[in-house]
Amino acid sequence: MSAAQLERLQEHLQRLRLFKVRERLEALLQDATTQETPYADFLDLVLTEEVASKTAKHVIMRTRLARFPFVKSLETFDFSYQPSLDKKQIQTLATCHFIEHGENVVLLGPPGVGKTHLSVGLGLKAIERGYRVLFTTAASMIAALSRAVSENRLDERLKIYTVPRLLIVDEIGYLPIDRAGANLFFQLISRRYERGPMILTTNQSFGSWGEVFGDRVIATAILDRILHHAITVNIRGNSYRLKEKLKAGLVRPSEATE
Ligand code: ADP
Ligand code: MG
Repeated sequence: MSAAQLERLQEHLQRLRLFKVRERLEALLQDATTQETPYADFLDLVLTEEVASKTAKHVIMRTRLARFPFVKSLETFDFSYQPSLDKKQIQTLATCHFIEHGENVVLLGPPGVGKTHLSVGLGLKAIERGYRVLFTTAASMIAALSRAVSENRLDERLKIYTVPRLLIVDEIGYLPIDRAGANLFFQLISRRYERGPMILTTNQSFGSWGEVFGDRVIATAILDRILHHAITVNIRGNSYRLKEKLKAGLVRPSEATE
């Protein structure tokens, strides 16, 4: 192959934005020549490399856009520490069928049992499958929506939470929500209802949501919509944060869940 042809090929690849193949072109051609790779196999190899590279870049970009508080996968979750958790159920959720079916997932349990970790892990699975994901906490979402109201941009802000295919709302119940906040939360839930699946985490049983939202009627309306199509995962174990202390016998299990 002439230098001019190589240059032309590289220009084409640049123009087509096939950056990985452009970078690897000479090596790929060299290998194909020495191994006498059949044409179809060569094309297959070249395209596979480009697709793999583009997919990896997409995952990195979407992971950044998701605004996770930390990036931890389901693979690093120690299920043996959390026997109340059904590993099979989480693995089923990891297939992301709940997203296709527009179902919500509610992770319920005391602090430290891995709700955020599991929600991030499931979010990463969704990203790998090509879904757009956004992570937020109930408190920061309500704060952002309240700010948007005062700036007369509520609609715009609500769209930020409705456009991603999967919305993760962490920490419902950690901070009390006032009436205006509860109303905004309800608006968001109504917009996503039967369209956009969510993962919600909470440390409060559903019966206590009246207190969380400071209004029983709104709490019921919110719960109605969330639970209409939902899978609830109840985690009853000990806080992982206290794992080391428990191991050393410094804390009793009954204290660890408080
Ligand atoms: P929660 O959101 O329920 O309060 P987190 O998900 O924030 O709990 O978990 C607290 C910390 O412990 C995180 O760093 C998380 O990665 C880790 N963790 C919790 N449970 C497990 C587990 N079963 N295996 C591995 N790490 C865990
Ligand atoms: Mg958490």
